[in-house]
Amino acid sequence: MDNSVTVWLQYDELLFYAACVSHCWSVCLCVCVCLEGRVFRRRVGSGGMRLGSSWRWQLTRAMKLALRWCRPCRLQKAGWVGGSKGLIGHRLSKLWMYSKLLLRSLYYNSLTNSDTLLDCAFEPVYWIVDNVTHWFGVVFVFLVVLLTSSVVIIVYLFVLPTIFTTYPMHWTAWHLCCGHWLLILVVFHYYKATTTTPGYPPKDKCDVPSVSICKKCITPKPPRTHHCSICNVCILKMDHHCPWLNNCVGHLNHRYFFSFCLYMTLGCIYCSISSRNLFLEAYNAIETSFQTPPPDYSPRESVAYKCIIFLWVLTSSVAVALGGLTLWHAKLISRGETSVERHINRKAARRLQEKGRVFRNPYHHGRLNNWKLFFGVETRSHWLTRVLLPSSHLPSGDGITWDCTFTRSDPVAI
Ligand SMILES: [Zn+2]
Ligand SMILES: [Zn+2]
Repeated sequence: MDNSVTVWLQYDELLFYAACVSHCWSVCLCVCVCLEGRVFRRRVGSGGMRLGSSWRWQLTRAMKLALRWCRPCRLQKAGWVGGSKGLIGHRLSKLWMYSKLLLRSLYYNSLTNSDTLLDCAFEPVYWIVDNVTHWFGVVFVFLVVLLTSSVVIIVYLFVLPTIFTTYPMHWTAWHLCCGHWLLILVVFHYYKATTTTPGYPPKDKCDVPSVSICKKCITPKPPRTHHCSICNVCILKMDHHCPWLNNCVGHLNHRYFFSFCLYMTLGCIYCSISSRNLFLEAYNAIETSFQTPPPDYSPRESVAYKCIIFLWVLTSSVAVALGGLTLWHAKLISRGETSVERHINRKAARRLQEKGRVFRNPYHHGRLNNWKLFFGVETRSHWLTRVLLPSSHLPSGDGITWDCTFTRSDPVAI
C-alpha cells in the first residue's frame, strides 16, 4: 500500500517537476533574450569579459539553471519516500523559494540597477521605435517628394503664367532666375543628403584614434562619433537621425542637410511672397462662392483657387517651421557644435560652472572659421561655387581626427 502511494506520488511529482522545469526553462530563456541587448552588452562594454554574447552561451546557461533547479528533489529523496503531506508542503515552498532565487540570480550582476531593469521593460518599445522609424522614414521621404512636386506643378501652372502676364520683363526674368536657382539647389541638396552616407568609422584598422568603445558595435569611437540606434551603426560627427531624409546626418552629408534646409526655407518664403496676391484673390473668391447665388466660376478657376490656397498655406507653414530649424542649426554651426554635442556640452558647462571653471568647446574656431570649415570654403570664389551653386566637394578632414583649439594641458578647459 505504501509502495503504491509512493509510486503515485512520484509519478505526479515527476509530471509536476517536468512542467515546472519546462516553464522555468522558458522563463529563463525569455529573460536571457530580453537581457541580451542590455546586461550582457554592458558587461562587454565595461569589462570586456565576454566578447559577443552568443545564443549558444545563453541557452547553455538557461539549461544549467533549469537542471540546478531540480537539485532539491535529489537532495531530499530519502525524506520524500515517507509520503508526509507536511513534508510535501515544506518541499514545495522550498522549491518555490529556490526558483525565485534562481530567477533573480539570472539577471543579477554588479552592474544591474533600476536603469537596466527599466531598459529591459522598455525593450519592446525600443525595438518598435528602432524598426518602425526606418519605415516612417520611407513615408516621410515620399511625402517630401510629393509635396515639393505639387508646389512646383502649381507654380508652373498658375503662378508663373500670372507673372508672365502682369509683371514687366525684368521682373519676369528675375522670378524665372530666382525660382529656378532655388529649385535646382533644393533638389540637388535633398538628393545628395538622402543618398550620401554620413560617414562611418573604419572597422578594419586598429590604430584609429578613439575616445571610447561603442558598446553596440564593439568598435573604437573616434572623437565626435556617436551611435545611431535607428541605423544601428556609429556615425562620424553625428548630428542626428533625420526621418525626412531617412538617413543619418553626419560628417559627409551635414552640409547637404543644412543647405537643403536653408534653400527649402528660402524657396518657401519666395513662393509664399510671390503668390501672396494670388492667394488673397483666391481666398476672396472662395469666400464669395458660399454666397447665394454662388458666382459662376469655371471648373479650371475653381481648381486654380484651391491649388493657390494650398500652395500658400503649405509654403508659409513650412517656411516658419523649417526656418526655425534652420536658424537653430545655423546657431550650432556658428558655435562649432552638432546637435548631439549641444546636449553634452551644456551638461559639461554646468558641471564645470559648479566647480568655478569655464567650459570651452574644443571644436570652436571662431564664427567665420566655423562656417568656412563647414562649407569647405578655402578661397573667396568658393562662396559662390561651393555655397551658392551646387557642389559635390568633400568636407574638410576625414571625420576621425579633428583640430582642437587647445590642448589637454590647458588648465581652464577640459
Ligand atoms: Zn556603434
Ligand atoms: Zn541613423
